[in-house]
Amino acid sequence: MAPPYIRRCDAKSRKVDAFAARRIEKHRKSLPIASVEERLVEEVRKNDTLIIVAETGSGKTTQLPQFLFKAGFCREGKVIGVTQPRRVAAVTVAKRVAEECGSDLGQKVGYSIRFDDTTSDSTRIKYMTDGLLLRVVSLRVVDAMVSIVKDPRLVGLRHLEALLDPYLSRYSIIIVDEAHERTIHTDVLLGLLKSVQMARSTSLNHYQNFANKKTKDNMLLEKENGAQCINFRKQDQRRKLPPLKLIIMSASMDAGVFSKYFEGAKAVRVEGRRFPVQILYICLDEPNYLDAAVTTILQIHLGEGPGDVLVFLTGKDEIESTEILVKERLQQLPENSRKLITLPIFSSLPSEKQMRVFAPAPAGFRKVILATNIAETSVTIPGIKFVIDPGFVKARSYDPRTGLESLDVVPISKSQALQRSGRAGREGPGKCYRLYLESKFWEFDESTTPEIKRCNLSNVVLQLKALGVEDIVEFDFIEKPSRSAIVKSLEQLFLLGALTGEYKLSDPVGRQMSQLPLDPIYSKALILASEFNCLEEMLITVAMLSVESIFYVPRERVEEARAAMKFFLSPQGDHLTLINVYRASNEFLEKKNPDLAKEKVDKMLRKWCKQNFMNSRSLLHARDIHSHILRHIEQMGLHVASCGDDTLQFRRCLAASFFLNVALKQRDGTYRDLKGGQVVQIHPSSALFGTKPEVELPREYSCDQDLVLGENKLGSANWHLSC
Ligand code: ADP
Ligand code: MG
Repeated sequence: MAPPYIRRCDAKSRKVDAFAARRIEKHRKSLPIASVEERLVEEVRKNDTLIIVAETGSGKTTQLPQFLFKAGFCREGKVIGVTQPRRVAAVTVAKRVAEECGSDLGQKVGYSIRFDDTTSDSTRIKYMTDGLLLRVVSLRVVDAMVSIVKDPRLVGLRHLEALLDPYLSRYSIIIVDEAHERTIHTDVLLGLLKSVQMARSTSLNHYQNFANKKTKDNMLLEKENGAQCINFRKQDQRRKLPPLKLIIMSASMDAGVFSKYFEGAKAVRVEGRRFPVQILYICLDEPNYLDAAVTTILQIHLGEGPGDVLVFLTGKDEIESTEILVKERLQQLPENSRKLITLPIFSSLPSEKQMRVFAPAPAGFRKVILATNIAETSVTIPGIKFVIDPGFVKARSYDPRTGLESLDVVPISKSQALQRSGRAGREGPGKCYRLYLESKFWEFDESTTPEIKRCNLSNVVLQLKALGVEDIVEFDFIEKPSRSAIVKSLEQLFLLGALTGEYKLSDPVGRQMSQLPLDPIYSKALILASEFNCLEEMLITVAMLSVESIFYVPRERVEEARAAMKFFLSPQGDHLTLINVYRASNEFLEKKNPDLAKEKVDKMLRKWCKQNFMNSRSLLHARDIHSHILRHIEQMGLHVASCGDDTLQFRRCLAASFFLNVALKQRDGTYRDLKGGQVVQIHPSSALFGTKPEVELPREYSCDQDLVLGENKLGSANWHLSC
């Protein structure tokens, strides 16, 4: 029999659970969307495509999937998929909804983001990033097409069924959430889902919907596998799938653009609760908005009644600096005025820490959330009464002329400013402090430019090409990207060897690149490294480059951190430095018991990282990515080998892979990038900073000859330019 204290403990935790469940139920019922549950379910039954517009915080993301589950849309094992533009939202919302449903994460409710999948066969409500679903839709089709064309033995129908799910047949409903954000993935996904939906309701040959014309692969498919193909299509037609329901959810007003794109789809608006928000502008222009934000936080803390504060900052660095500044200023206050806690939320923060922003502040304390624009619409934090808005955001921009992509701090749009201020009036009247002049507000753009118009399209173009979309310009985009941006990405993909001279997907390089969940440049680096016999090194490099900064330099211990870093530094550059770090972590683990459970290994690594001034989250993430990609490349049959001490071989491979990012030293000692001829400098954080490295082009890659990279022959023009 269990000892009595265990029973007491169980009874207590049951009581706590019951209390939490009642509180959650009460909260759910109080949300604006709860009062229209029946009407929304009815609209979903009646319409295959539905647009739902509702104020942020009304309960769209957390409640609607639960309503639809309850209404029976997950019968016969069907899944409701919900896409989010941001990983943070997919993770935090899935955790919350699992809690609301009283189930463990990964059971009824789960999330799936790149390199992290918590779903299981029992998962019925699946939150994921829009980028992830985009890959699922495209990869399934690509895999299937390639298998049919290449390997007639694979065309056993049962095998094919499992391999090929172009109709997303496991899903009864796909909810594209936060569509107003208009990320590039959302935009392309809408195009593909429209096509999947059409295919499901008409039983047409799916490929013909994707391709503008009959693709070469399709023709091959018919020629080489005529009999099996016919079987397959018959099977297709027999399979009566219910239509794919598509729900597009948005927090902003412009449902019109989505409705028009989906041939006049119905849009419903759910009235939210909104309390008045007093808007205050700064009187004198203040260039140092961080300082102004800190002063405002303290003014609110000392001068206003209860209520939490939400501050919008542009990134992790600003958030960390503000946290330090607030702490310093608090120390100058009398003890009884220091009851204020700051909580950060940004995408690279570990998810346990992200969840802390949702917990109420300790009694008597005021909570100040320092957030990036993920708190604008993606996640709703309860208890906010005051918003501080410096008026800036970090946004991607792309110059098709130079091919350079950058993350810049830019002014927000009017609609973003309105969203931000609205966060103060969800639970009662609030205040929004805009740290800019009122005249500045009127200069802001009306709304944010969709990402597809301001970023590098190579990845998306590669995916579309892999789907057989021949004419990218003619693809049914909700909003067309500029012609020059498309041309630039086609050019880049050609240079990388992913496309042939006729801009068709090359085989095997382009096909392999489209299958790897990586930026095309990284995928190409791995494929090339297989030929250069240094895939082991390149795999580590790509994994380490895919995470946030590995080295961690706390302000108060800069010297110590630098000294620790020196131990790993390679005079041959940052990539080899990263390899040194990764291998050192392996050696450290090998010295310990290599058969330990993952949690133990992670714990030991965290300790090791702390001693060596490294960001443990980044290193652990890189190790996960490493094992994930390793599985991919092994399946693809790439040759995983090490170049050992021959680092020249690896550096040659680096130059060959990342040639689009190369800068060459000029006679006057400056460096110019090869793409646009811009003068560039070595970053102070680089292992090469303070040195003047020459470009050591080995003889066989001399400028007099064409560069032969793997099987793709690069035009020598790229290199002749600056040599
Ligand atoms: P919408 O999608 O309409 O913006 P949500 O469904 O995200 O709204 O949020 C509905 C409510 O659930 C909000 O009041 C929010 O504060 C609460 N909520 C969302 N996520 C969490 C969480 N992880 N913990 C606590 N409350 C949450
Ligand atoms: Mg939402």
